[in-house]
Amino acid sequence: MGSIEEKVCKIEKNISDACDRSGRKRSDVTVIAVTKAVSIDRANEIMSEGFHHLGENRPEQLLVKQQAIQQQATWHFIGNIQSRKVKEFIDDIDYVHSIDRMSIVKEIQKRATQTVDCFVQVNVSGEESKSGLEPSELLQFIKTAAGYDKIRIIGLMTMAPNTDNQKYIRNVFKSLREQRDYIASQQIPNAPCNELSMGMSNDYVIAIEEGATYVRIGTALVGQESEGDK
Ligand SMILES: *Cc1c(COP(=O)(O)O)cnc(C)c1O
Repeated sequence: MGSIEEKVCKIEKNISDACDRSGRKRSDVTVIAVTKAVSIDRANEIMSEGFHHLGENRPEQLLVKQQAIQQQATWHFIGNIQSRKVKEFIDDIDYVHSIDRMSIVKEIQKRATQTVDCFVQVNVSGEESKSGLEPSELLQFIKTAAGYDKIRIIGLMTMAPNTDNQKYIRNVFKSLREQRDYIASQQIPNAPCNELSMGMSNDYVIAIEEGATYVRIGTALVGQESEGDK
């Protein structure tokens, strides 16, 4: 498995190389350390390595970690959101990556006391098992969502299909980037949509080459300590 320092070193090298290859700056890419499958100690460790963006997919776990972690972190909620849970954590997080329906937008509008930066999740590959909007629904959805002042649509998010076909994964990321460019070009007030949240342990290099501004890395960065938090 290797130590956390080794993991960090390897990932940093891969990221710089991917930036070099694609003519991007390292500072254009923010790494979100996904700590959903690891302990509080491990989360503290990765923060000590200089990673201050943390991602969790369950409200309860996010709040527990937040309480326990003494350092200043930026919190990303990356899981499916249940409406009834929104009020419990919406004011404690900085970013939501998984906006996929209007009922969630309305619930955030109702519960948040400050504007939350949000990504709209897109199901680029059209797999039935994946959540997210169809590309064809995006523009209308974002126009409507932009009317709610407690959310700001800062970008698009996707999860690549679980496949070894790198070319296919690259096409998914490329397609998300094109959709981001299109939405951004519409200059919708309150929906700048300049960011791209894509790339996980297995595909972050491809995602960066295709323009990711946020990558969400769990296993490859912090390992995996607990089962059952998929
Ligand atoms: C778990 C998860 C990740 C991180 O996955 P790894 O493969 O462990 O890097 C990223 N994004 C989302 C939405 C996740 O649920």
